[in-house]
Amino acid sequence: MKYTDRPRWKDLIAAIIAAPADDLPRLVAADWLDSVGEYGRAEFIRIQCELVAHEATKKTGQHHNGPDRARKSLVEQAALLMPAGSPKDTYRRGFVCEVHCKLDECMGGPCSSCGGSGIIHNDMHYAKHYSSETCITCKGTGGQRGIGPNFVREQPIERITITDREPYVPVRFGPWYWYNGQLGETPNIHPQSDLPPELVWWDRNYASPPLETRKQAESALSDRLLAWAKSQPVRR
Ligand SMILES: [Zn+2]
Repeated sequence: MKYTDRPRWKDLIAAIIAAPADDLPRLVAADWLDSVGEYGRAEFIRIQCELVAHEATKKTGQHHNGPDRARKSLVEQAALLMPAGSPKDTYRRGFVCEVHCKLDECMGGPCSSCGGSGIIHNDMHYAKHYSSETCITCKGTGGQRGIGPNFVREQPIERITITDREPYVPVRFGPWYWYNGQLGETPNIHPQSDLPPELVWWDRNYASPPLETRKQAESALSDRLLAWAKSQPVRR
């Protein structure tokens, strides 16, 4: 059994997610990883925690200026022990803190096998009759699951960055909005009909504080997606 499937690991992760700023639950998880023989994974957590602690000490001026050999060494050790997985996942203090993905990957969207119809049309020329059958990928639902709801329970994610959407600024100096368009597309300035039912997009009814900068817009979307993912039921 993979360590990530063990009940104890799930408890350890839940403790880390409950106290994301605290190193202690992470170091407890590292000790447990040692006990099941996952030495590299354990050491990676310790080194990355040490790295962040080292940087914090440096900020408060307790180190002299000059080449930071300790930091360089920690970064190099961490790189060697980096867990396998998507290189776009950003690890901090031993766990994924940021994920980069497309919106459909995060939230789910139309099934990529059947395009959302739930039906596969068999139009092979040698078939006696054209026929259609239920799509086996999505079992006829037409949708695919997003990774968001499970991922926020598997890692202490603090940030979701969506790679195929961009915020839109209608006038030169803001405020910024999100619209449900593709990257590079002409912004849809009448987006109501395009709002997905999950309503993660920043709404335009001015009920929310305006987003003054692109950075604020990106953080707002990340916060909405995190809240949405955490509100979803666990699916196995
Ligand atoms: Zn399908």
